[in-house]
Amino acid sequence: MRTQVAIIGAGPSGLLLGALLSKAGIDNVIVEQRSADYVLGRIRAGVLEQVAVDLLDEVGIGARMHAEGLPHDGFDLCFDDRRHRIDLHGLTGKRVMVYGQTEVTRDLMDARRASGRPTVYEAADVGVHGFEGKAPGVRYVKDGARHEIQCDFIAGCDGFHGVCRASVPQDKLALHEKVYPFGWLGLLADVPPVSHELIYVNHPRGFALCSQRSRTRSRYYVQCALDDQVEHWSDDAFWAELKRRLPADTAAQLTTGPSIEKSIAPLRSFVAEPMRFGRLFLAGDAAHIVPPTGAKGLNLAATDVGYLSQSLVDYYQGHEQGIATYSERCLRRIWRAERFSWWMTSLMHRFPDNGSFDHKMQSAELDYLVNSPAAMTALAENYVGLPL
Ligand SMILES: Cc1cc2nc3c(=O)[nH]c(=O)nc-3n(C[C@H](O)[C@H](O)[C@H](O)COP(=O)(O)OP(=O)(O)OC[C@H]3O[C@@H](n4cnc5c(N)ncnc54)[C@H](O)[C@@H]3O)c2cc1C
Repeated sequence: MRTQVAIIGAGPSGLLLGALLSKAGIDNVIVEQRSADYVLGRIRAGVLEQVAVDLLDEVGIGARMHAEGLPHDGFDLCFDDRRHRIDLHGLTGKRVMVYGQTEVTRDLMDARRASGRPTVYEAADVGVHGFEGKAPGVRYVKDGARHEIQCDFIAGCDGFHGVCRASVPQDKLALHEKVYPFGWLGLLADVPPVSHELIYVNHPRGFALCSQRSRTRSRYYVQCALDDQVEHWSDDAFWAELKRRLPADTAAQLTTGPSIEKSIAPLRSFVAEPMRFGRLFLAGDAAHIVPPTGAKGLNLAATDVGYLSQSLVDYYQGHEQGIATYSERCLRRIWRAERFSWWMTSLMHRFPDNGSFDHKMQSAELDYLVNSPAAMTALAENYVGLPL
């Protein structure tokens, strides 16, 4: 098989890149190691910045998001058992869209199927080669048969554990990583959200987040130990712990119900530099991870592929400047989002090694934050997404 761009991974970054390239008339093939149902079964992000909304509109799949998604004008920060609203729209003129990653992925998959562009699911032993020369290629095994795709470029959209970053000679990569000493236990349930906006909670028992996927589906999280196991948490135990971390009046309004999904996610900050190696580009979680506290992971993946698709369009029109500066442009935005996600994680969580001084510092910063329009504006402009 021959194509212009071989895309590894059918998560949000691979599917969105495929849609943007297809719209520009650039031939592409997506190779994914899992089944479509498996990809759709992963419960992850839920908050989209305007820039991600615009990209989904650009590829013509925004209709369901605008009909079913929930535009949010603010969120609450909660500490000392009191909620303080951060007025995103009042402070920045912008809002965010609550629309689950699962739904974004479903819309992108439907559009891809309708376009007739090829996606190879359940590809085994995926390998990339030749990207440091002029003739890159992708090999994989499907139904026991070996296949090879020859291409002009490879887009590594294959997530943190993918094959693309791992195929780059290690002496050409700089890796920056911070692993946090706790995780998030998440529960998804078909119950109405406790509040129409998100609530981020700093509590002596640990962080909690009340979020949502729709008016009838809620996603809640509590900070847990890194070595905790989901089997140790019954639904009842989860709801009881969440209630303990909420102000009494909010806890009294919480509707509980059976979980649809429960999982523990570790928290990590990670950046691999650069993001281009000859004819191989990394995008999304393949190149960087943020802790989910700032709701930035999916949004960064979207902006990476926005830059990459434009760079490739320019290349096929005879201009190489875009692909030459792809890595540098992405990394500037990525590092700013890394800083925000790290800061918000540090502000809202209980760190096992922290003492009373650190707790006082968190309290003082939260107190300053909700009483200073300047500090609230800095938080709000990062949360809604910095300009491209
Ligand atoms: C629990 C959790 C909660 C999150 N919450 C938020 C949030 O609230 N807001 C936010 O913005 N972000 C959040 N994120 C992050 C967000 O989900 C990711 O940033 C986003 O999924 C990145 O998309 P991606 O396409 O780059 O990577 P992925 O979604 O990881 O997709 C990569 C794809 O590549 C495939 N693949 C891997 N290896 C290979 C291979 N060798 N060959 C072929 N295919 C391969 C994988 O199967 C996968 O389908 C969260 C993440 C987690 C885990």
